[in-house]
Amino acid sequence: MKQDTPEITGSLKTKVSFRFYAELNDFLRKDRRQVIFTYYYHGPVTIKEAIENLGVPHSAVDLILVNGNPVGFDQHLTENDFISVYPVFELLDISSISKVRKGSLRQIRFIVDCHLGRLAKNLRIMGFDTLYRNNYEDEEIRFLSRLQNRIILTKDKGLLMARNVTRGYYVRAIDPREQTKEVIRKFDLYRQINPLSRCLICNHKLIKLPPGAIPPDVTDNDGKPFTEFFRCYNCDKFFWKGSHYKHMIEEIIRYVQP
Ligand SMILES: [Zn+2]
Repeated sequence: MKQDTPEITGSLKTKVSFRFYAELNDFLRKDRRQVIFTYYYHGPVTIKEAIENLGVPHSAVDLILVNGNPVGFDQHLTENDFISVYPVFELLDISSISKVRKGSLRQIRFIVDCHLGRLAKNLRIMGFDTLYRNNYEDEEIRFLSRLQNRIILTKDKGLLMARNVTRGYYVRAIDPREQTKEVIRKFDLYRQINPLSRCLICNHKLIKLPPGAIPPDVTDNDGKPFTEFFRCYNCDKFFWKGSHYKHMIEEIIRYVQP
């Protein structure tokens, strides 16, 4: 039986139970991980306020059930609620039941914070739409994330806590190759890897040139002209599958495979 939201008083405490699932546990205090725990609060509190108070950025959350029913972030807690909190479900389309945000996150686009440049480059090598600059302001990252439905990849939990962030992932790994592997696994991107489809410099889509448009003086080690040649019409750079590039792509793809 639900009760009215309690008034704010010095002594009145209200009790609910929480259970966080999967990697959301990484954000919790150790004794609260993978278990049902009790949470006390004073006065009216929304789900969003409570989960961020527990250390979990709301942008890492995709589904909240209160007593088995899906709810949004602005739902107020009431006495004895049982709240289950699930991470961003990229492997499973839950857009029909989740009330946390509109639409699916399945259309993958990233914006990467300035400390993860190698990760950004690796994602572009594999063809993923990845915005990156080494001098983004936090607010600029949040704005572009909202404007273009981009998932923020960051090692800064504070960046994900901001009110206006709806899509974000806290990258755990330290090594750039491990980070790349983590992101590909997390968002199940194996089948979407498409090398040489994005400009490494500016992220624009590359256009494959017809054989007649390839400069004849660009040849491989044996003097043969390249058959696949790509151009970025945004920054006017050319890319081709030379041995260095091939090696780089093959190494990353081999590395990220499950
Ligand atoms: Zn470019």
